[in-house]
Amino acid sequence: MKSYRKELWFSTSSRRELINITPDVLNCIYESGVKEGLCLVNAMHITASVFINDDESGLHNDYERWLEKLAPEKPYSQYQHNGYEDNADAHLKRTIMGREVVVAITNGQLDFGPWEQIFYGEFDGKRRKRVLVKIIGE
Ligand code: ZN
Repeated sequence: MKSYRKELWFSTSSRRELINITPDVLNCIYESGVKEGLCLVNAMHITASVFINDDESGLHNDYERWLEKLAPEKPYSQYQHNGYEDNADAHLKRTIMGREVVVAITNGQLDFGPWEQIFYGEFDGKRRKRVLVKIIGE
């Protein structure tokens, strides 16, 4: 069995951002040489997510508004976590949007359903953060 590990680094210019990382994950699969297997992609930080959905700008704006209703960034004082930090909302947003995805690899490709794309969801950006890609298979 082959095994492959890579860290993808991101540094967003804004606090919140959604980035389509499907091309980066595909490159990992090509580098791994795995044709049949599984690909795990997870955020390595507790204020960022990896999730699968549509690459459609209206939906991405809807995510922003929906998450701000559920866990508004401000006022910072509404959260007990914000004693020395201001990112309680980012922790909550990460929990809602998820930590990781696992995608089947078939014929050396991501075995997606219609319109599925992999996203890095940043909720407390403006600093370097990582995503782990782990691939196993033959
Ligand atoms: Zn925190």
